[in-house]
Amino acid sequence: MASKSFDELYPVKDEYDRFDARETAFGQALKKTGKMLQFSSLESKAGRILSGKKGFSLLDYAFHDAAGMYETPFGERHTQDRGNYKWQSLGTAKKYPGVGKWEATPEEAAKAVRKACKFYGAGDAGFAPLDRRWVYSHTRYGKPIVFEDVEEGYTTEEKAVIPESHKWVIALTVPMDLENFMHTPSATESVSGLGYSRMHFLGGMVAEFIRGLGYHAVPCGNDTALSVPIAIQAGLGHLGRHGRLITWKHGSMCRILKVFTDLPLAQSPMAPGGIVEFCEDCKKCAKHCPSQSISNGKRDYQTVSDANNPGALKWYVNAESCLDYWNVVESGCGICFRVCSFNKKPGLHHDVVKWFIRNIPALNKFWAWSDDVMGYGKRVPPEKFWE
Ligand code: SF4
Ligand code: SF4
Repeated sequence: MASKSFDELYPVKDEYDRFDARETAFGQALKKTGKMLQFSSLESKAGRILSGKKGFSLLDYAFHDAAGMYETPFGERHTQDRGNYKWQSLGTAKKYPGVGKWEATPEEAAKAVRKACKFYGAGDAGFAPLDRRWVYSHTRYGKPIVFEDVEEGYTTEEKAVIPESHKWVIALTVPMDLENFMHTPSATESVSGLGYSRMHFLGGMVAEFIRGLGYHAVPCGNDTALSVPIAIQAGLGHLGRHGRLITWKHGSMCRILKVFTDLPLAQSPMAPGGIVEFCEDCKKCAKHCPSQSISNGKRDYQTVSDANNPGALKWYVNAESCLDYWNVVESGCGICFRVCSFNKKPGLHHDVVKWFIRNIPALNKFWAWSDDVMGYGKRVPPEKFWE
């Protein structure tokens, strides 16, 4: 199937406004209760440990907590301009006396940066002109995010400033282990925390590499901008029905980070088509979502919750009912990630199916049906992890 353009895959109305992160489900929870997650206090975790609930033992929590060790610096939830995500040099990048900037064409720069990103641990790396529509208007704490004619990005109590010169974005994926994710929802599922730790490590390293070349970089985790449309524009994958990025290589099993920069980088080609068309037929995530937060129908401009930003044609996920369910299971849920038909270990037979999905979409319904029948994505009891 020929690759479609971004505008064909992700049509956006002219009146689309930058999203305010205070309106996301986490932002709204923060506004209403002062906390993003209701189950994350020490007391609430202790209650589950002492109750003997499977998947929430001391062993599970110790493992979980350690995997998220570098998720956010200094135990903070907010990542913008913190720790390795600092918007200015951490001191590793050197300025060699008498040596100017690294000079290269955008194509050469893209090739070298991609090589470095993969060496540092990225599952994949892609590049696109920075589309400001995806940059939040405000952080979830209410700080305006603005563009100004300055050399380096910075944040103050009043605002977060991205330089006008940062016209390019590097989107990166961090793959996640499929086996550990099969235990979600539970505290045994620790690959999400590990993914966030690796994002933090990778973001800082890529930013310092760019700075070492004589340019500037603003690395971001989940903060500052919407990751999914940026990753699609940078050719890493496509938007799935469950509202997450799906890549051909790692399916839904990846986290996304991004680095804004003034280093000119050639646009990456769009990922091969076929994912959105498969999601139209599959609907497995919608069937298995316990809170019915995922649409069963066609992509629409109609939002389904106050935590959605209107204006794009897509499957809107009810992020509020989703988060409510997290509070019921007292853990991140992730069932839609877990059951996604695109999550497969490497293997020739899976590659053959992907070839069919890309080239003969008429068989999509059969593949989706057989994936569910064969039991892919079924929860594995958390206690099995330790056997
Ligand atoms: S995380 Fe769970 S509740 Fe939320 S959309 Fe996915 S399956 Fe549904
Ligand atoms: S489970 Fe199926 S419909 Fe849902 S995101 Fe994955 S491929 Fe798409």
